[in-house]
Amino acid sequence: MVQRGRLAPFDMCGKSGTHFDLSGHLILPGLINAHDHLEFNLFPRLGIGPWCNASDWASDIYQPKKSPVRENLLVPKQIRYMWGGVKNLLCGVTTVAHHNACPAALFSARFPVRVVRRFGWAHSLAFSQDIPDRYRRTPARWPFILHVAEGIDQRARLEIPQLDKLGVISRRTILVHAVGISSRELETIRKRGASIAWCPSSNIFTLGRTLRPETLCSGVPIALGTDSAMTAEGDLIDEMRVAREAGGLAGSQVCKLVTTNAARALRLNDGRGTIAEHGVADLLVVRDNGQTPAEALTNLRPELVMIAGRVMLASDRLAKDGVPGMRGLHSLEVEGRGRCFVRANIPKLYDAAVRTIGPEVRLAGKRVFQ
Ligand SMILES: [Zn+2]
Repeated sequence: MVQRGRLAPFDMCGKSGTHFDLSGHLILPGLINAHDHLEFNLFPRLGIGPWCNASDWASDIYQPKKSPVRENLLVPKQIRYMWGGVKNLLCGVTTVAHHNACPAALFSARFPVRVVRRFGWAHSLAFSQDIPDRYRRTPARWPFILHVAEGIDQRARLEIPQLDKLGVISRRTILVHAVGISSRELETIRKRGASIAWCPSSNIFTLGRTLRPETLCSGVPIALGTDSAMTAEGDLIDEMRVAREAGGLAGSQVCKLVTTNAARALRLNDGRGTIAEHGVADLLVVRDNGQTPAEALTNLRPELVMIAGRVMLASDRLAKDGVPGMRGLHSLEVEGRGRCFVRANIPKLYDAAVRTIGPEVRLAGKRVFQ
């Protein structure tokens, strides 16, 4: 039972409110995507790599006057942000950490997923001259997030000592990527208590490799992120598969990367990443085929997604069964995944994308249809 967006004490359940018949289903916490750039998810993957570091990739692909970057940049940014929100919602994500400035008015209750608002950030050592200032300006209880060691060369490896010297690696720091570190830098990260946001398919595309088993098993807290479609292979469902395959992780480990680990790293202490009395009612519902919750995340097909107890996504099947809370949802079909209904103005978003990109709209690499 949900009261004011939170889960009521379980002994109060059944007393009043809207009832959902979810027999035959598993209820999981809504997932958390620890790293995305929401405005870049209609883009195709850009460039032919791998490269030695992210700066080489960026200078190689930054051709704003050429196709397909030109057409994609012509889609209004607000529309692109919304598509980024839809991409996440389709994977059962209820909270995403967007990396870049936050247009607060857009990332409101009308956005398809929650976007982390309380955080400090810098792009990276290569693109941000004011990292210590940004770190100091970030309130002590908020996470501080930046791209680090996104490379496999000496320059990438030296970034951890550089940042440590600047005093910006601490328990509240989330280091995005950290691919190019050796055992020594890993030990620095571990000692400082920082976390890593891991984006395996993006790393493999840009750098030809991702985190080593030594890092994955080091005890450093790790959360999973998708990065944007410019480098990633797909969405969070695909990324969880890559984490299992490329990282050799068990399903239960992958489950933590997108729930409790991510909530802890992002300092979300309102119950996100768990199902708890008085916690936020951000829920992901899947069919119960006798699998464990971790197994349910393999080839995940969300049946229902709720944020603060409000239905944000419903599968075609549940929609046909007449699940409550469908008003305001719009139909969307995703290549290989089928049709569902999402709380976003898909006709408007679709028209705006088609106008500049053309009839073949792809979201995180998959074709989408109205
Ligand atoms: Zn990034």
